[in-house]
Amino acid sequence: MRRGNALDMVVEAVSVMEFDGSYDAGKGSVLNLFGEVEQDAGIMFGKDLSVGAVAAVRHVINTIRLARLVMEKTDHVLIVGDGAEELAKQFNLWVPSTELINENKINRYNSLIRSLRTRYERNTELARRFSLMGTVGAVALDRDGNLAAATSTGGTILKWPGRVGDSPLPGAGYWAENGVCAVSATGIGEFIIRAMASLRVANLVRDGVSIGDAVRQVVDYVTKLFGPGNIGLIAIDKVGNVASAFNTEVMGRAWSREDMGRVVIAHFAADQFP
Ligand code: ASP
Repeated sequence: MRRGNALDMVVEAVSVMEFDGSYDAGKGSVLNLFGEVEQDAGIMFGKDLSVGAVAAVRHVINTIRLARLVMEKTDHVLIVGDGAEELAKQFNLWVPSTELINENKINRYNSLIRSLRTRYERNTELARRFSLMGTVGAVALDRDGNLAAATSTGGTILKWPGRVGDSPLPGAGYWAENGVCAVSATGIGEFIIRAMASLRVANLVRDGVSIGDAVRQVVDYVTKLFGPGNIGLIAIDKVGNVASAFNTEVMGRAWSREDMGRVVIAHFAADQFP
């Protein structure tokens, strides 16, 4: 936070989580129906509404950095599959599959696939529970008033190959707009896309709703439409108010400010946040 701008902050925060391996992003990305990793990520800078995103990327750990490259080094917003892999190779972000797929993941995949054949219903439930909270995201405000948002994911476990979720889609998985707010989403991408959840939060804030009320209202709206257990949001407004809301049991989240000298971490809805 002492160097760089809001964009650098969200990239650094998401990169740490992509490298960690315990989230459904980067190294920890879950496997799709064919036992492969396919990641989506998107980033947005509120100063000029610039956006960069990638989808169905198979050989990258720092997928958010690849999204940033799309934003800063190409004329495009979203690059998928082989084209994204080629870009990763040119900027030294490409890694072999062995860096992303380990024995644990293969065992979990095999047991899910086995149970799929006999108990489809229960397995779907299980897959949901495993994959729901894994996506990583960050939002930030810098001293110049710039807002930024970044979201990175391995997607939902056992997804159809080529399936793209909300995380690389601006307005759905993230949004950042100076003078308004920055938002990042997690949950079941199909619902988040249909609700345009992140842009919906920004629209409410632009109309004068507080950031806390806005994220709550959008989560309630999604719950009403599609039921519980499918969305979580983090957000920050133009003056640095931080908020989160979710309709799942748990959502890990943390926040800090330059003058605080510490990071506040929360998991359950009842935990104090911010
Ligand atoms: N939103 C992500 C997706 O649907 C998954 C997640 O948040 O865990 O791809």
